[in-house]
Amino acid sequence: MAQGERWLEQVRRAVLLALVAVVLLVACNRTAAPPPPEASPATTPAAAKQVRVVVSLPVFVSLVEAVGADRVRVSSLVPAGTDPHTYQPTPRDAQALAEADIVFVNGLGLEGWLGNLIASAGPSARVVELAEGLQTIQDEQGTPEHAHEAGNPHLWLDPDYAIEYVRRIAQALGEIDPGGAATYQTNAERYIAEIHAFDAWAKEQVQRIPPERRKLVTFHDAFPYFAEHYGLELVGVIVLSPGREPSPQELAQLVDLIRQQGVPAIFTEPQFNPKLAETLAREAGVKVLELYSDTPPAGEDYIGMMRRNVEHVVEGLA
Ligand SMILES: [Zn+2]
Repeated sequence: MAQGERWLEQVRRAVLLALVAVVLLVACNRTAAPPPPEASPATTPAAAKQVRVVVSLPVFVSLVEAVGADRVRVSSLVPAGTDPHTYQPTPRDAQALAEADIVFVNGLGLEGWLGNLIASAGPSARVVELAEGLQTIQDEQGTPEHAHEAGNPHLWLDPDYAIEYVRRIAQALGEIDPGGAATYQTNAERYIAEIHAFDAWAKEQVQRIPPERRKLVTFHDAFPYFAEHYGLELVGVIVLSPGREPSPQELAQLVDLIRQQGVPAIFTEPQFNPKLAETLAREAGVKVLELYSDTPPAGEDYIGMMRRNVEHVVEGLA
């Protein structure tokens, strides 16, 4: 009996020790382990599941980032510094479209290569045309074979239209990600206020150009909305349609026009070969400066790109 009692006592102790060990282990794990998911507040942004956004042009990346901030991951089909009119899509673009939650394009025939790409990538993502239904300027400079029937597509170079693009981006993102809708609206309003502030500054800058010198000759026909918004006269363009070099007669006519009209400078764009503009400027005896239409300069957003454009216009024409 005594032996049996001692054995029983040993078993009791062993069980007690094991229990203490288990309690200690559990307690240690509690403090070491990350908080369980149900402990985080329900309003935490879904950082792990960002909305995958694909845009057609690099300039739209910054508009979507301004609205979406860390709720979105944005990539552009057309790489920085590439002409979107003559762009040849790659298999990687089809992949990006297939993985996208939403796609923002300009429309109005700017991305002529996009239709087949979207058809082949599958229709899962929503495609939003940012310029859809907006009042366009008809192409006056374009050749008949290139003229965009729907009107000139470069509306975002007028800040008022860029604001409309931002509103559409916020609306569409809020529809596919309702949890972020309020954030998208707040961010959009903040960015719109920044665009307004830029625009007020820009209009003051343009006043420094004598009225008779507010004349614009650009590389391709991307600036009619910009010109109209800032009270500049669009005198001519160097290439009538991207990818088509002007004939010697057309160049000679443009040189005459620049001289007759007293245009102080002409503008090239970094995505095009500058040789043509340089030749023209030499013939006409004017300066060459750069304007940005589709790709902001490195490290700049839409507003930074527009600020550079205004600075260059004032520098060239004032
Ligand atoms: Zn263009």
